[in-house]
This record gives sequence, structure tokens and C-alpha cells, in this order.
Amino acid sequence: RIAYVNGTYQPHNNATVHIEDRGFQFADGVYEVWSVFDGKLADFEGHLSRLARSLTELRIPIPMTAQALGQVLKETIRRNRVRNGIVYLQVTRGTAPRDHAFPQDTPPSVVVTAKSLDLRKGEALAAKGAAGVTHPDIRWGRCDIKTVGLLPNALAKQAARERGAYEAILFDEMGMVTEGSSTNAWIVDENGRLRTRDTQANILRGITRAAILKLVEAEGIELDERAFSVEEAKRAREVFVTAASSFVMPIVSLDGTRIGDGKPGPIATRLREVYLEQARREAI
Ligand code: PMP
Repeated sequence: RIAYVNGTYQPHNNATVHIEDRGFQFADGVYEVWSVFDGKLADFEGHLSRLARSLTELRIPIPMTAQALGQVLKETIRRNRVRNGIVYLQVTRGTAPRDHAFPQDTPPSVVVTAKSLDLRKGEALAAKGAAGVTHPDIRWGRCDIKTVGLLPNALAKQAARERGAYEAILFDEMGMVTEGSSTNAWIVDENGRLRTRDTQANILRGITRAAILKLVEAEGIELDERAFSVEEAKRAREVFVTAASSFVMPIVSLDGTRIGDGKPGPIATRLREVYLEQARREAI
């Protein structure tokens, strides 16, 4: 495998950044993940504009033009011979003697990796439905910025894994679901209404979430962009999560409580199908 590191392509096994990279010492950086279909990037523009926003919010300089970045992503995909999988981009505030305050005139560090994924595995899980567990959301107040500060997310995902579950569904101090540890969360509530939390809340503005919102409208599905509680999720007809790497993943049990009839529901199944069809078709 090959990684892009600050302008050069290196063997993945010994690709390194400096010990005083601010990503390493302060989690002072942001990232994006694109899914790759047939060697092409899904929703290049969507992830690119969120990247620009994350960098701007943190006052990290934009490291290269959109065109140059597209080329680096493509070249990393090509060198790793990825047909289907993901490409990961990380931009940090760069390397400087350790000091909490920002360094001056330090170029950002840029790392890109790509890996192949077996689409059939995801399809098999989606056909069966995945397990979820709930976990308190202990993150900071700017979850709209896609930073590499993922320790609370990692702790939640680990708690899920230790209970044999695929995803941790996070909830706030009011018992309302915020999002998943690496996904946005949705339900079809007991009245049959599709719901997902609005992005005025402290959550990530998922690119997959945004794409699904458009498809929901095109499909004529009624939507209520409004928070739901853990209890409502457990009583829901359907629960599912969305992300660039897992598309639309039905959740068929939550903390061991069966959701609906314990099988992927019609809305999640339909949205996965139309999302994948569109993402493939529009990949560049
Ligand atoms: N929420 C969180 C906390 C995430 O980490 C992710 C994926 N990185 C998502 C939601 C889904 O976002 P996207 O659809 O842009 O992958």
C-alpha cells in the first residue's frame, strides 16, 4: 500500500509524520472520508466543501486547490489499485515546537490513504441488519467540525464492539439521540414518520445525510427533521444510520431491544438502494 504524505508518495508501512505534528499532540486537524466506486470518488464536492468549512472554522490554511486535491485523491486510489473502498484525507495545523497557541507560518500537514473494502460484506450486514447500543454523548461543543479529536467516538465504538454491536448511538443529557459514533442516526417513528436530528444541534452535518435528505424528497417520503429520544428509537418501526463508509445501515436491535419486526425496514432498504445507485452513477 502507498500513502501520500506532504507532497510525496511513500510505502504505507513506513509513512510517517513528525512527533511534533499538531495532529499528534493536540488533535489539531480535520479529516474527510470519500467512498470509492469503480475507482471513482463519490460526492467529491460535498466532502470538499465540508473540508473547507472545517479548515476555515479552525483557521487552518487550505493546503491546496480543489483540483490539486482531487488529483492527489485519485492518484492515491490508483496507486493502491482501489476499485471499491474509501479514501481518507487528513489535514493538520502542521509541525511546530509544542505550544498550545497556533504556530506562525507553518504549512499544514496533509496525509492521504486509500483502502479497498469488500462491498459484499456490507451488503450482507445490511440485508440482515446490524445491532446498536446507546451511549452517552460526551463530546465537545463543536461536533460540526470534522476534527481528528475522536477519542469520545472511539470509546463509544469500543463499548459497542464489546457488546457485540456495530454502532453506538449517542444521546445527550435529555436522553435525546444526537448521532452515531461515526454515523448520523434516523428513525421511522411509531407514526411512520421519518425523523433525523436537525443540524442546528451539536452534530456533524453528514454528507450522506444531506444526500439522503434530497432522495427522501424525491421519493415523496414525509420527513420530520426533529430530535428523537432513545425511548422513541426503541419503539420505532425502523432505525438506521448513514455515513460515507456504510451508506445506509439498518439497525435492528438497540440495547438488545428488537426494532420493529427485527428485520431491515422498507424505508431503510429503499433509501440504501437509491443512495447506492445515485452515488455510483455520480461518482467522478
Ligand atoms: N457523524 C459522525 C460523528 C461521523 O464521524 C460521521 C462520519 N465521519 C458521520 C456522522 C457521517 O458523515 P458522512 O455521511 O459525511 O460520512
